[in-house]
Amino acid sequence: MATTAFLAYVGRLPALAQALHQALRLLPAMILTLAIGVALTPAPAAAQGRAAPPAELKQISNDLYFFYEFAGSNAVFMVTDEGLLVIDTRTHPRPGQALLDMIRKVTDKPIKWVINSHFHGDHHFGNAPFKAAGATFVAQAETARIMQHVQAKEMARRIDGFKSQGLDPNEVKLVLPDVTFETTMTIKLGGREVRLMYLGPGQQAGDTFVAFPHARALFTPGAFGKRSMPNMAFTPSVDSWVKLLEQVAAMDVDRILPAHGDVATRADVKELAAMLADEYATVKDAVAKGLSVDDAIKTLTFPQYKDWRNYNRLAGEIRALYELIQTGKRSYLD
Ligand SMILES: [Zn+2]
Repeated sequence: MATTAFLAYVGRLPALAQALHQALRLLPAMILTLAIGVALTPAPAAAQGRAAPPAELKQISNDLYFFYEFAGSNAVFMVTDEGLLVIDTRTHPRPGQALLDMIRKVTDKPIKWVINSHFHGDHHFGNAPFKAAGATFVAQAETARIMQHVQAKEMARRIDGFKSQGLDPNEVKLVLPDVTFETTMTIKLGGREVRLMYLGPGQQAGDTFVAFPHARALFTPGAFGKRSMPNMAFTPSVDSWVKLLEQVAAMDVDRILPAHGDVATRADVKELAAMLADEYATVKDAVAKGLSVDDAIKTLTFPQYKDWRNYNRLAGEIRALYELIQTGKRSYLD
């Protein structure tokens, strides 16, 4: 961000100028962390196996913001004179409302669009406050279908997380998309064009990428998280997933805004593609050698990824890959 733009921004928030100057000195690149005081539901650090940094809001360009929660899920919003476009709404209506409150500290423009990037509840269970705010919801057709189909399972696997955060599961209401698309969709808002793309199944069918060409930024769904070991229970094809990530890594963008993990680069996307190919080849080899799934879990420890997010879920990932390789099935989606 140019100094003048930064000062203009500070001028709108004089009380925060000091904190922002401090943040600007401390932070790399051109991303500002905004010291906006909103009570955020703290995510359980223990679940991640290490202390989780607090959630923060990063300004990516003059109109694009990245809500980053290491221990939870991320969101993105674009502010225009005509209103806002939001991607994903966090894991429950209360954190969803906290996100909306945070947006309201930046702008009072109407929420026009909400995109749900994939079917996982931690990206759309916070939809309700945005529905109440009048947003039109959009998702890829497969995402819309699976959201309904696995709603009970998505709730079941989040109950413990809700309890640990003091969130009432009964407050979660399924808010389905008003509009669906198959392959691509363009949303025009406030002079910008936002491009939604379905490149085929990655972490799951329906994974939606969102390009902001004016900001040279790309939002990535469950298919990518920076140094984050993904859940392997949903993908119909790891080969398709790896290919798709290589395609994304070749796109003409400067910044990757993932659904999980911090702001990333195309090199980080390439790194995940390589990790997935490595993990898949290693587990396939174990299956071919006749190793039982329990023995595979004991011996395949992938120490090179021990610092990655969700490394503590490795056993479950190996089990899920065994299911895919041995049966071709994804029982979670039955
Ligand atoms: Zn997620």
